[in-house]
Amino acid sequence: MKYNQLGNTELKLSTLGYGASPLGGVFDDINEQDGINTVHAAIDAGINYIDVSPYYGLTKAETVLGKALKSVPRDKYIISTKAGRYGSELSDFDMSGARIRKSLDESLSRLGVDEVDILFLHDIEFVDPNIVKNEAIPCLEALRQEGKVKYIGVTGYPIKIFRDVASYANIDCILSYCRYALHDDSLRNLLPEFKNNKTGVINASPTAMGLLTERGAPSWHPATNELKAACNKALVLCNKANINLTQLAMQFAVSHSDISSTLVGTANPKNILNNVDWITKPIDETLLAEVRAIFAPVNSTIWQTGLDINGD
Ligand code: NAD
Repeated sequence: MKYNQLGNTELKLSTLGYGASPLGGVFDDINEQDGINTVHAAIDAGINYIDVSPYYGLTKAETVLGKALKSVPRDKYIISTKAGRYGSELSDFDMSGARIRKSLDESLSRLGVDEVDILFLHDIEFVDPNIVKNEAIPCLEALRQEGKVKYIGVTGYPIKIFRDVASYANIDCILSYCRYALHDDSLRNLLPEFKNNKTGVINASPTAMGLLTERGAPSWHPATNELKAACNKALVLCNKANINLTQLAMQFAVSHSDISSTLVGTANPKNILNNVDWITKPIDETLLAEVRAIFAPVNSTIWQTGLDINGD
């Protein structure tokens, strides 16, 4: 496993990180012990970065993760959690300073740790940018100043939100999802400027939340039918070449040197071991070019999410 510095921070994250949303049953009902075993398998395989949120399974993921981490020395992992999002509706967002502080305390207690390394604002595209700028970011900056969290950042889907926040706030890192994957690599455009500013970049969802797997996307997935059809075509092509589509997706997602870590989620230890193994193998460039060609015409049909004002 390789480890990469995150922007200007002192954190060195494993190229592959573990995303704990499946511990909350986000993709499927899970067996809690399988989930705990997956966390341990990830750490044993050299993964040192774990991400979670109170939103995942409405606190369940943090609770299960806390059980898994009980037996793991604190210096074995770097952990991020989030604040501000507590459900799927617009009314489930609260980025007020008071709620962020309370949320952090609740997360620490569920996770059983004294401190998280990174606190993110979760999916800021759903929130009025004035609230993010005037309430949420100042709260995060104060928490960092007070030493309650080491580093701060924001997460979300539209690329525009990251530029907006970086233009006025001194954030340490961002977490983008589904934007550096086989079907869409538009995060690429942001990387030179963020490298220049020394703002760390974390990439999440290398399988685009299950889209680039044999099982396919869960029922709540926002992908268009056109994109799902392209995924099916890619799957057929990969099967013909005897290469697992998820293998190609993992290899592609970790391939950019300006991305410090790519977070993959699963509650199955075997998947984590496969993923760790796959990223050490060279990518099949011919198959990659063919699969990327399938997705090229549908790039403009990536899904919309959040308030229009926050871009796409
Ligand atoms: P993902 O692309 O990692 O996909 C997860 C799905 O892929 C699961 O169904 C899992 O079972 C399956 N999978 C994983 N490895 C597999 C393998 N080897 N073979 C077959 N199937 C496999 O999507 P994700 O879980 O949404 O993203 C990873 C993490 O990134 C999340 O858990 C979360 O921590 C973070 N994330 C954050 C945000 C945000 O902050 N807004 C958004 C998305 C993801």
